[in-house]
Amino acid sequence: MAQYPYRSLNEYYRNLFGKKTAKISLDGGFTCPNRDGTLSTGGCIFCSAGGSGDFAEDASLSITQQIKKGKAQTLKKWPNACYIAYFQAFTNTYASVDVLRAKYEEALAQPEISGISIATRSDCLDDDVLELLKELSFKTKVWVELGLQTANEDTANFIRRGYPNSVFVESVEKLHGIHIPVIAHVILGLPGETSEDMLNTIDFINNLPIHGIKLQLMHVLANTDLANLYETGNYTPLEKEVYLEMLCQCISRLRPDIVIYRLTGDGDKNTLLAPLWSLQKRDVLNQLHHLLKEKKIQQGNSYCP
Ligand code: SF4
Repeated sequence: MAQYPYRSLNEYYRNLFGKKTAKISLDGGFTCPNRDGTLSTGGCIFCSAGGSGDFAEDASLSITQQIKKGKAQTLKKWPNACYIAYFQAFTNTYASVDVLRAKYEEALAQPEISGISIATRSDCLDDDVLELLKELSFKTKVWVELGLQTANEDTANFIRRGYPNSVFVESVEKLHGIHIPVIAHVILGLPGETSEDMLNTIDFINNLPIHGIKLQLMHVLANTDLANLYETGNYTPLEKEVYLEMLCQCISRLRPDIVIYRLTGDGDKNTLLAPLWSLQKRDVLNQLHHLLKEKKIQQGNSYCP
């Protein structure tokens, strides 16, 4: 019997690999077209100095060194785990195919690496990159994580995502066509968004061949444009109770086969300005599980195909 009333990542990995699986967050030394001037220099309004990879290993280390370091940190807790090399920081398909191949293959050559997860933008998946991913997928498990954040185009423009929803849809379909599972990143609590907007985003995902979802809380990190909005009273982060209620509604609305990769935020405590309650991750998850039970919510309860 499932531990939670939703398809959890732990359960998915256990079914896939038969053991505890940990992700090692890597910084491949890439940048992002939304920051290097190709699209813009400002980036998404919430983007931190680490390019949304604040927990990734140190980019000055080689991929091999980063993986060794990541493994050493988890070894005590999970001595028999296998690992996913997670290219997290910035845009991890934003380089030539030769550079990408070298980085990915270096990761996959490390012992106990059972697959590779690549976080990127939907507008950075050219045909030669897709060909490389397809080739890798014949040798190992490959996942691609795409930042949608919202299906509301007005919000997407406001946060400077840099592409319309159609680009996201096209990339999801191309990846699905080569059998690469896609994980969509969604942010709850974006500036100006209502509950209806957030549920519309869930419906948008439900209608696509998406394998997994990360539901993340909007964090305000220091030295971002969102921090300016927050500090001038033009943005208010979600209260814990509102976030928990929103999560319940999203889980209930989500297609039952979609794996939930994340349900909390992951802000760096050194730069997190708000909401500070999000630092108590265990507490937030416990409260969510309690609420789901109390409200008798199962993933897909209110999913409408
Ligand atoms: S796409 Fe990612 S790395 Fe690029 S600006 Fe947005 S959050 Fe930052």
